[in-house]
Amino acid sequence: MDDIKTPVRLFIVVPCYNEQEVLPLTAPLFREELRRLTEAGRITEDSRVLFVNDGSRDDTWKIIRELSAADPHFQGLCLSRNRGHQNALLCGLMEAKDQCDITISIDCDGQDDVRAMEAMVEEYFGGAEIVYGVRSSRKTDTFFKRFTAQSFYKLMGSMGADTVYNHADYRLVSARVLKEFANFREVNIFLRGMFPLVGFKSTSVYYERSERLAGKSHYPLKKMLALAFDGITSLSVKPIRIITGLGVLISAASFLLILYAFIAWASGRAVAGWASTLIAVALLGGIQLISLGVIGEYVGKIFLETKRRPRYIVSERTEELSSPEKE
Ligand code: UDP
Ligand code: MG
Repeated sequence: MDDIKTPVRLFIVVPCYNEQEVLPLTAPLFREELRRLTEAGRITEDSRVLFVNDGSRDDTWKIIRELSAADPHFQGLCLSRNRGHQNALLCGLMEAKDQCDITISIDCDGQDDVRAMEAMVEEYFGGAEIVYGVRSSRKTDTFFKRFTAQSFYKLMGSMGADTVYNHADYRLVSARVLKEFANFREVNIFLRGMFPLVGFKSTSVYYERSERLAGKSHYPLKKMLALAFDGITSLSVKPIRIITGLGVLISAASFLLILYAFIAWASGRAVAGWASTLIAVALLGGIQLISLGVIGEYVGKIFLETKRRPRYIVSERTEELSSPEKE
């Protein structure tokens, strides 16, 4: 089981956007966790906390620079402008993948329990390449946040965008997976829905999610809806299928309506012109929706093509086939 060389080099990747209140509180927590894991002999002394400043307008970057100057375990990247949580995180992960063995991504607001990292690292040594941090309850969230977040996962699932339930972006990903992930060249990224697509052995670790230590959430309902919509439209073409299905259904219904209108007209019970108008409207409505759906199918295919996702990923090779210089 333990064929992975211990200790490994860990990068904790932390996206930060306008977090000057909370960063000074959480940075020591991340540092402390590095120390604990180092003492446990699981990670190397040169492991790092990598902050990604996502174009903050406050003193976040200044704080990161100060942290880094005082302790080399803290490192930082600064994006040229605000690109959003997902892009900032991706940037950090891509930067980290060539320098470490494993990464753990976590928000910088202290909501995710850093103590779960130990369990994640253990799962990695147990053979998992991706370990999802899943919150075990939402006791501390307000009813509204809980309800909207729960609906979010249900909506995503029913629309064909599979995600790990109650998992946000607290996750261990090995450098090996990240190197494969680098081939996913799409621009609409929704990381928690994309990592399951990479494959490899994965598992989950459960933790209690607490309240923000300071500052306020950047994900109000409006942004959450936008994230859900992005997730659905970048992972699945199910909404297009629904339009096609609706078209077939309405066409069938209008066929019955046409039959009815014809009978009414033939038996002389209809007002002059009523039947022909109704037939035209019903028939055209149905045909239009079907056509839209069919066109949508092609647009959907083009959409998936332009992403240029790899068609397959080799996870292992026999001795003879593996070429060490490719590593
Ligand atoms: N974040 C970011 N760029 C943004 C918005 C948020 O890097 O444009 C970071 C933020 O600093 C935090 C994480 O993403 O570390 C999650 O954001 P937040 O805590 O506001 O979301 P919530 O936990 O309320 O869903
Ligand atoms: Mg948060």
